[in-house]
Amino acid sequence: MLEPGAATKAILTSLADLAPLPAERVPLERAAGRALAEDLLAPRSLPPFDSSQMDGYALRAADARGRGAKLPVAFTVYAGAAPGRALEPGSCARIFTGAPLPAGADCVEMQEEVAQRGGSARFNRPAVAGRFVRQAGSDLRTGEPALRAGAVLGPGAIGLLAALGRMEVAVPRRPRVGILATGDEIAAADRPLEPGQIADSNSHLLFAACREAGGEPLLLPIARDTRASLAAALRGAAGCDLLVCIGGVSVGERDLVRDALAAAGAKLAFWRVAMRPGKPITFGRWDRCAVFGLPGNPASAMVTFELFARPAIRALAGLSGSGRSVLPARLATPQTKDPALTHYLRAETFVDGRTLWVKPLPSQKSGDLTSIVGAEALAVLPKRVARLARGAWIEAILLGEAPPRVQAHRRISLAGVAST
Ligand code: AMP
Ligand code: MG
Repeated sequence: MLEPGAATKAILTSLADLAPLPAERVPLERAAGRALAEDLLAPRSLPPFDSSQMDGYALRAADARGRGAKLPVAFTVYAGAAPGRALEPGSCARIFTGAPLPAGADCVEMQEEVAQRGGSARFNRPAVAGRFVRQAGSDLRTGEPALRAGAVLGPGAIGLLAALGRMEVAVPRRPRVGILATGDEIAAADRPLEPGQIADSNSHLLFAACREAGGEPLLLPIARDTRASLAAALRGAAGCDLLVCIGGVSVGERDLVRDALAAAGAKLAFWRVAMRPGKPITFGRWDRCAVFGLPGNPASAMVTFELFARPAIRALAGLSGSGRSVLPARLATPQTKDPALTHYLRAETFVDGRTLWVKPLPSQKSGDLTSIVGAEALAVLPKRVARLARGAWIEAILLGEAPPRVQAHRRISLAGVAST
């Protein structure tokens, strides 16, 4: 049986010819969180002209070498003014933050250090060339690389693009992810339940997880546990970059998803990974589509999606890795486990001093939905171990946002550091 790490590697290797997907041009407001698909050179300098960093007076430093120098105020430059009059030697100009530095001036003195009486300004201290001037191109010069292909467009990068006047960028297209629930007992969640049916919760769980991973999810009609129904459902997945089938990949008599995928022409690379939850998971290529068969229990579906489908979606979108923090953490409660498998326990997180703790949720039943709601992390219990004591060091995969307990604690410990 494949180890989880080897499975992830095999998946990413298998996608090498597809990832990242071809680029599309999107406006900045749709680019956040996506990867840049082009190297970007600065089409203009930042800042574009020499400007004042302060409200004060522009002058030549040579004209105020000593304390108490006095210069006539020749004119005023406001922010937004076009560069206009040059400054004559032996004079200064009233200037405000962001206004263009008049030609001839080489520094600005802040108004707090200047006394203006009538038409002249008295400088409390010697002027220093370059002081309080934002030089054209000091941030970035025309033609210099602004962002490299592959950069993730966070708010900062979006701000930089806007400053450069780039209101559209090339990013890999978001992968279209088909979500296919299977099972005779599975009913669409918006339908009343017939006897023996349960609502299709997984499709919606994975829809949300897919969006979070950077994919464009598409809910396909639920398939029955028959070859014909599965074949028809798979035809509906045409055009997807990635397909996630839910359920029907285990060893039951009616677990027909692998057969149906193979019959449709998919080449399955593996089946079963040495992990809990989620042992029966299959992955393969169906032409230009990556296909996953995930186990149907909600916790198994969630964990296997997190470990295997999420990095695949990200790779197609041009984003590297899982995008999750994996941190050393201590186990808050002792655990026993199957030494043949890596266990991934849904857990809460705490910070004590400088140590991250993970506390596995009381229910780890893979069929229980309530047990996945409060999962802030996956506690990774390694293979070859049968028992872990309280306090054992393990790895924690942090899911989503930092919970308030961890955020609040960080504030407290940073305050402590600052005061020592
Ligand atoms: P399977 O992997 O098909 O053997 O399903 C395992 C368990 O997960 C069964 O109890 C199914 O009823 C349940 N299950 C399968 N698919 C879904 C789904 N889409 N939503 C919620 N539960 C499901
Ligand atoms: Mg089933």
